[in-house]
Amino acid sequence: MQASFGESTIMHRKLIDILIVDDDTIDRRLVERALKEPSQQLTFVLNTAATLTDGLECLKNHSFDLVLLDLGLPDSRGLETVDKLHQAYPQIPVIVLTGLADEETGVKAIKKGAIDYIVKPFKPDGLRTRIGIVLQIIELQQKLLSLANTDELTGLVNRRHFFDILEREVLQARIKGNSLSVVMFDIDHFKNINDAYGHSSGDIVLKQMGKILRENIYPLDVAARYGGDEFIVLMPEASSEKAAQAAERLRGVIDQCLWKVYDRQISITTSVGLADTDSGNLDSHKIIDKADAALYAAKRRGRNCVVRWDQIGPNEQTEKIEDRHFNELQAKVSSLVEQLRSQAMGMVSALIKAMNMVIKDPYIIHHAENAQVYAVAIAEEMGLSLELKERIGTAALLQDLGKITIPESILKKTTPLTEEEKQIIRLHPAAAAKILEPMGVFNQELQIIKHHHENFDGTGYPDRLKGKEIPIGAHILSVANAFDAITSKRGHHPAQSCEYALNEIEACCGTQFNPEVVEALKEAYEKHKEKWPLSTRAFYNTYSEPAAVSNT
Ligand code: GH3
Ligand code: MG
Repeated sequence: MQASFGESTIMHRKLIDILIVDDDTIDRRLVERALKEPSQQLTFVLNTAATLTDGLECLKNHSFDLVLLDLGLPDSRGLETVDKLHQAYPQIPVIVLTGLADEETGVKAIKKGAIDYIVKPFKPDGLRTRIGIVLQIIELQQKLLSLANTDELTGLVNRRHFFDILEREVLQARIKGNSLSVVMFDIDHFKNINDAYGHSSGDIVLKQMGKILRENIYPLDVAARYGGDEFIVLMPEASSEKAAQAAERLRGVIDQCLWKVYDRQISITTSVGLADTDSGNLDSHKIIDKADAALYAAKRRGRNCVVRWDQIGPNEQTEKIEDRHFNELQAKVSSLVEQLRSQAMGMVSALIKAMNMVIKDPYIIHHAENAQVYAVAIAEEMGLSLELKERIGTAALLQDLGKITIPESILKKTTPLTEEEKQIIRLHPAAAAKILEPMGVFNQELQIIKHHHENFDGTGYPDRLKGKEIPIGAHILSVANAFDAITSKRGHHPAQSCEYALNEIEACCGTQFNPEVVEALKEAYEKHKEKWPLSTRAFYNTYSEPAAVSNT
């Protein structure tokens, strides 16, 4: 699996720039030697610094892909070192190097923002593998983030990301005392195009609009799809006059463009509203409201024209804002978020499927889907809300994503795992959470996935949470996973009966599992006993051999 992902990853994109911050010359050399050894996929460019101050200086002057950070530096010691580096460069992934006696610090460093930790002394192979894993996480994060920030139809920035950019640029404008303009476009009578030529023709027009904006804005400008047929362009450092000229030019390009849907030539125009920060207008939402009010005025003035907010009358200025259909807007936003969730879900499911196919193990292939059915049935018995049930079901499907970070050799291993291999496996829930986190649309699922290996009595991982500290969805997923694991054929473990699984799970009630959830599983089983266990019935084996309750 690692290799198949590696092909399209950061490793092939370019050389990997790594900064090693360690004052111990021998340790530094060991890392350098380990990373200089020829490797099939990775080519590292190494830079070193012996103090945190030097390290920060290097980061100021050069952009690195990764920092390997020792915590005992002459000018900074312990977790403070991670804190300082993370505060100065929050985007840079940091792997902490920690001594064996200090492994606990490594775990704490992850909570402080490090992406991973490596225990010294390390084996060269181990170091390269861990770095490879981290690079894959970063790559996947970047891919998902870019998907989460892009409008699928037009390829432009989406509304959510546009607001992030706008907030940042408004802040910059405020600090530097610069002006900034926002130009909003709405296609005139767009509904008629859908009605006359069909929705797919409407989509062609929207795509073409995206292309025109992309190709005709200035390099520093940001074009986004704001909603259905509304587009918005952010023009940093542009005064109202300059932005008005640019807006007029763009309106003209759209008007003059030869619009064709299939073989038909049609005419497309846009109404354009403009607002800027010159009039002391330094709140991002207010600028948007003003551009929107100006756009509304452009519609009223006959469409196909540009109107500036500071050129409309006081009544027009307030009318649109007061008139706003809050519910309509809210519905638009939530439908966009849903669209984003389903897009991301599609991509992540495809990734997981591809990963599972490489493993070729029926248990692994069916596990997430089986666990989803069991988890939702348990949640149903517990009377949880529809939304929470959906979140739990999605979390069950997404839980395997973190396995992307586990080398195939470990996933397929039939002999007992070494401590180091177990450690890598234990990182997978947190890894899945880290991959999904930047998208911001799976927040609830993320908490469930991250904590589904916590135990009720506080002995699980990654955070040793206990009882009610663990999200209820994670309690449920943990039981559902165990139920599927026991009733499936896994490696040398035969598939056991549902009754056997219930007994095993009950034996761990109050220690590994939440008693309330175990009770709900028993009730759910009573209702579904005809159909359970699910897809592995072909492998069903009535022989009952005591098996460890595992839900990896
Ligand atoms: P106006 O000149 O006042 O803007 O009139 P309009 O017909 O353009 O009306 P409005 O802007 O309110 O309507 C936008 C329409 O865009 C409504 C919706 O059916 C359509 N729409 C929204 N999203 C999409 C999409 O992704 N594809 C297509 N084909 N149509 C969309
Ligand atoms: Mg319109």
